[in-house]
Amino acid sequence: MRKKNQTYYVSRQIAWPDGARRVEIVAGGREHASPGELSPAYRSAGEGQEFTCPVEAAEAAIVIARLWRGDDRRKVAITMGASLGGMFAVDEVYSVPELRKHAADLASRLVRCDQCGEPVKGEGESWFSDDAPEIEDMTFCSARCARKAIDFYVRDRAESEEV
Ligand SMILES: [Zn+2]
Repeated sequence: MRKKNQTYYVSRQIAWPDGARRVEIVAGGREHASPGELSPAYRSAGEGQEFTCPVEAAEAAIVIARLWRGDDRRKVAITMGASLGGMFAVDEVYSVPELRKHAADLASRLVRCDQCGEPVKGEGESWFSDDAPEIEDMTFCSARCARKAIDFYVRDRAESEEV
């Protein structure tokens, strides 16, 4: 099975029954969010959105927690849940430095586009080209990047044939 990237969903949660406020980052996407999700109030900061890059999700959660704390005058924790085999498993509280470190660790293991280096959605795109068989084992974020890679190998071959 090919490696694939998860999506990270950011939501605001009020825990039951203690009313604790937390910004939750959950791996696996929106369907893995805890049931106490509030309707998004900080959409432009990334609330209610899915991120492929855990660093972007973490930075969004930090901003949302600060905004919410400012508006609500209550303590807001940030949690990040790991998804194991597609099942929501752990939901741990992180300090901001811990969260940044954890997100960076996760980001270092992302499947990235072999052309531009950006994290791919899911398992990315595979392409085949008779003109550039080299790309067969590569992963791309988009058709644009796949075409760039094909162009590169086609041009490279044309140049070496000229000599
Ligand atoms: Zn790309």
